[in-house]
This record gives sequence, C-alpha cells and structure tokens, in this order.
Amino acid sequence: MASLGPSIEQLIEALRCLPGVGPKSAQRMAFHLLERNRAGGQRLTQALSQALEKVHHCQQCRILSEAELCSRCSDQRRRQDQLCIVEMPSDVLAIEQATHYQGQSFVLSGHLSPLDGIGPEALGIPKLIGLFEQDLIQEVILATNPTVEGEATAHYISQLAHARKIHVTRLAHGIPLGGELEFVDSGTLSHAFSGRESI
Ligand code: ZN
Repeated sequence: MASLGPSIEQLIEALRCLPGVGPKSAQRMAFHLLERNRAGGQRLTQALSQALEKVHHCQQCRILSEAELCSRCSDQRRRQDQLCIVEMPSDVLAIEQATHYQGQSFVLSGHLSPLDGIGPEALGIPKLIGLFEQDLIQEVILATNPTVEGEATAHYISQLAHARKIHVTRLAHGIPLGGELEFVDSGTLSHAFSGRESI
C-alpha cells in the first residue's frame, strides 16, 4: 500500500493499542475520524487527555478513581469486615450490579503470571497484606476468574489470608470454567456470589 503519510500512519498504529482492534479496524477508525467526524475526534482527544491526567487508582482498593480514595472506600456506610478480591475494575461493577454486596473491594489488575513477569508486587499484594493486617476484615471473598491463572492467584491469596486467620470464600458453581466475570450474566453471578463456599 502506498504511504498515507506519517501522521495518519501513526494514528492507525496508535489506535491499535485498543483491545480487539487490528490493522483493518484501526484504519477504518482513522479514516472515519478524519473524513467524517473531526469534531468527534477533538472530543475524543480532550476526553482522553483529561482522563489520562486526572484518573488514577484508589489508594485503598486500586479501582480507577479521580480522588485519592474512591467513592466506595470513602463511604463509611459500607461494611468494613468483607473484602472482595477481583482481577479487573469492571468485575467490581459486575458484582455490585448483580448482588447486594456492600463490602470493600480490592482490584488486582490481573492475575499471577510468572512467565509474563507478573508477580505479587504488580498485583498490589503488599497493599493487600496491609489491609489484612488492619484486623478489620472477617471474610475475604475470592472472585478472581475461574481460569487456571485466576485459580492459582486465588489459592495464593487464600494462603495469605489463612495465615492471618481470616475466613476465605470462593464464588460457587455456575461461573463457566475459563470464563471471565465481566461477561457472566448477572443472574448466574448473583447465584455464584450468594452461594460462595469456604476454602
Ligand atoms: Zn477504593
């Protein structure tokens, strides 16, 4: 293909950082923005740079937040004795939408994956241990994905919690093995959450 010029090629390459976007879709998006929707492109640029500047991670639960403590962690009405541990921020929302969970959450932002160099540090485990040691948590709910890596991560965290005499539960049946919480329908997720089992 003849060169389209460095700017458009850089744009196409940059769009490919989005999940599920290959070269064809990236090219279609770039053409769409430049040919048909420059105003939308401006809004996208502004919204993206504002979000990149203002949104960080909550100091306590690591969910995305503009404030140092997110609205959940700063809400004193929430239960302090339950801590639900998930892989992704979207899992917190999925669980809260599917259940009446009103406890604390902790986002790992992934799972243990030694081959990719993702160890406990990258998942915020030292921070998690700090929460365990505050002696407020009575139940740790492990809601990592039922994949091999998610199970290994859950097992690792359960040992840390057991060592501190904290009761540990794991989401029950119904979540398809290898599945991701975010994509499980809320009825199934609600069942699995309320039927969680001690481990
Ligand atoms: Zn938080």
